[in-house]
Amino acid sequence: MSLWEKIMIKTCPECNATWINGQLYWQNGKEGCPHDLAGLLCNDIQDPECINPCKGSTSGATWEQRRQFLGEL
Ligand SMILES: [Zn+2]
Repeated sequence: MSLWEKIMIKTCPECNATWINGQLYWQNGKEGCPHDLAGLLCNDIQDPECINPCKGSTSGATWEQRRQFLGEL
């Protein structure tokens, strides 16, 4: 088995976040928390295509962090 076959890459079609072997990475390549992603993006999008396993979670980022996050993009 090659290394590539062991790496699982999943990208959410809605928020463009990427999971590599279960670790979430933001669009900018930083490691992220799927709970934050849910609070920042996925919960708002409410799209069935979203693959975030933590969609609906409210234990992640706050609205204040969301404001900062969107400012950084
Ligand atoms: Zn998503």
